[in-house]
Amino acid sequence: MLDIRNFIDGQFVPGSDGKAFDKRSPLNDKAIARVSEASRADVDRAVTAARAALEGPWRKLPVGDRAGLLLKVAGEMTRRHADFVDAEVADTGMPRVVANPMCARGAANFKTFAEVVKTVPTEFFETPTPDGRGALNYAIRRPVGVVGVVCPWNAPLLLMTWKVGPALACGNAVVVKPSEETPQTAALLAEVMNAAGVPKGVYNVVNGFGPNSTGEFLTTHPKVDAITFTGETRTGEAIMKAAAVGARPVSLEMGGKNAAIVFADADLEAAIEGTMRSAFSNTGQVCLGTERVYVERPLFEKFVATLKAAAEKLRVGPPSDPASRIGPLISREHQRKVLSYYAKAVEAGATVVTGGGVPEMPGDLAGGAWVQPTIWTGLPDDSAVCTEEIFGPCCHVFPFDAEAEVIERANATDYGLSAAVWTRDLARAHRVAAEIEAGIVWVNSWFLRDLRTAFGGSKHSGIGREGGVHSLEFYTELKNVCVKL
Ligand code: NAD
Repeated sequence: MLDIRNFIDGQFVPGSDGKAFDKRSPLNDKAIARVSEASRADVDRAVTAARAALEGPWRKLPVGDRAGLLLKVAGEMTRRHADFVDAEVADTGMPRVVANPMCARGAANFKTFAEVVKTVPTEFFETPTPDGRGALNYAIRRPVGVVGVVCPWNAPLLLMTWKVGPALACGNAVVVKPSEETPQTAALLAEVMNAAGVPKGVYNVVNGFGPNSTGEFLTTHPKVDAITFTGETRTGEAIMKAAAVGARPVSLEMGGKNAAIVFADADLEAAIEGTMRSAFSNTGQVCLGTERVYVERPLFEKFVATLKAAAEKLRVGPPSDPASRIGPLISREHQRKVLSYYAKAVEAGATVVTGGGVPEMPGDLAGGAWVQPTIWTGLPDDSAVCTEEIFGPCCHVFPFDAEAEVIERANATDYGLSAAVWTRDLARAHRVAAEIEAGIVWVNSWFLRDLRTAFGGSKHSGIGREGGVHSLEFYTELKNVCVKL
């Protein structure tokens, strides 16, 4: 069985109090790794190592050299792409067609921020003074310091590097807390950091759980200067409370209950293809995924029938089968949560268009966290299934009659992460995009990302924006220098 250790000050180390936990495969619920759990003392060592790195040569490294080092990290990740894919697939059970682009995004995250950090200008003002000689004001960026990075399990490498990339590009040192469900790629990245020559202490990994464990030890540690988090809204709230002590900045990327709006003039084929991806890819475990689909009434019946036919073609299976498109959920615990919503939908009177249960799986796969891709119609907008984030391969499809009505219904949620609008009417596309309360609105597409753009959520979906220069806003502090002439 794999032995996964913490990575502190450039070295792999077991938990100092000997605690460890099993990581189970989502395919069959069998243990595949033993993971060292970091104690409070281990977290303290990691934070101390990060602080020492900040005060050492890392601080002095010119930005061009730092960017060069991150390009080496990206190069090494690309060289070891197959290892990252294997690790991600083992932890999550996701099909390889899903893991491949996700792992490629890991290297892309380092490349992007290596470029961004070199090219962002800073502000400069010539300021008049009463004596007529004037003053020059300019701003310099300084790293915020030690950044605590708390990560989820649904796209482990992609989401971790989305934060570690810009944090290191800006000259910070990080202590990463991967999800207890997905420890492998953070450990592999540690090997990459050493191979690329990143100074010890710049990147540290502490494994464990959330409350009363590593996550809490990290986010309450007084020497952590800023915290960046991706995960559930309730966890984000707890982290924000922890960060309030010492008034430390947080960046929170949290849950969603995202809508797709399909107008009758939409390209049906494209809207179906986009909705299939947004509802079912990664077994529906995508924060930007669509769980509410509003279809204009003249297209409703046809849309539902076409979506059903497409969903029933999705192959549910293990990553060893190249035809698999739907893997298991992350864990048996998450399976229980998703199935509770499948039951609630039926109790609330939904029409189950397809799915709704657990597929029959052969051999030891029967012990895995499988669920069927599921589509419902017929529920009211305010039912639990239509308002709470399920995070499984499922969506509810509603008919609508008017543009103003659908905007109001799409916005009637506490979340505000993303939306997709499908129409051939350009003016309407812009109108609706402007009115939807979400951090990103896609028109005639889904998950088309440019890493230079602002990414984040409104309402309960997040605080702050990351991506391109917006990441620099979080991972640096601007210092104003005023020079009297
Ligand atoms: P989670 O909130 O359960 O866990 C995320 C991380 O927080 C884990 O590492 C966990 O151990 C840690 N944690 C839990 N409690 C903690 C505490 N009290 N203090 C410190 N750390 C704590 O989320 P998850 O189940 O891993 O991920 C799924 C969620 O993430 C979904 O809600 C999804 O929408 C969201 N998500 C959001 C985005 C985004 O960009 N907005 C992206 C991916 C996932």
